[in-house]
Amino acid sequence: MSTTVRAIAFDVMDTLLTDPFRDALRAATGLTLTELSRRRRPGLWPAFERGEIDEDEFWAAFTADGIPCDPAAFHRTRRAGTGWITGMPPLLDELDGRLRRVTASNYPVWIHEVADEHLGDRLDEVIASYHLGARKPEPAFYHGLLERLELPPAAVLFVDDRAENVDGARELGISAHRFVDAATLRVWLREHGVDVVGEPVVDVELSGGDPPQCDDLGPVSGER
Ligand SMILES: [Mg+2]
Repeated sequence: MSTTVRAIAFDVMDTLLTDPFRDALRAATGLTLTELSRRRRPGLWPAFERGEIDEDEFWAAFTADGIPCDPAAFHRTRRAGTGWITGMPPLLDELDGRLRRVTASNYPVWIHEVADEHLGDRLDEVIASYHLGARKPEPAFYHGLLERLELPPAAVLFVDDRAENVDGARELGISAHRFVDAATLRVWLREHGVDVVGEPVVDVELSGGDPPQCDDLGPVSGER
């Protein structure tokens, strides 16, 4: 507890940004995620997220399995549906220069586009499963993350909307928070010695008191 916290690692989808994955897959295939999961070969998306196959191989597997798909429609919907979760930009801005703000995302090569178009300079370093060759909650993901950061577990905070990913971080001794909304995250950060203000003041007026939009998708597929 006395080790100084140096970095905070954020999951991206449904923690920093809205996740249009289900809608994008539906746009590409005409199938719901449930239907698609029944027909798609297991392990395809995880292999893509680990960088074991490239995008051409990813889409070719759909065709090989008899699932018609339109990658351009997927990307149009994915790009249109990606945006900041309420309250997170001002929080990241407040952490600027105080902690290394890094991503710790299960995401394929598209992470670079997401970083360029959405995350910008609000993140100091972009790290994803694509770089590490491992996915949360595999221990290798967190080991790889710590190695890249050159920090011990006690110097890193981890935030993710999925319980299994939070549990995976904790198993390695990383303090971890299951993301619900920015205001709750601020409370947790203060409890862990990060001196942030108590309310997401910037977004209070903008959101009109509406709840954050991060949790409106519910469980996706166990893949993210
Ligand atoms: Mg997530």
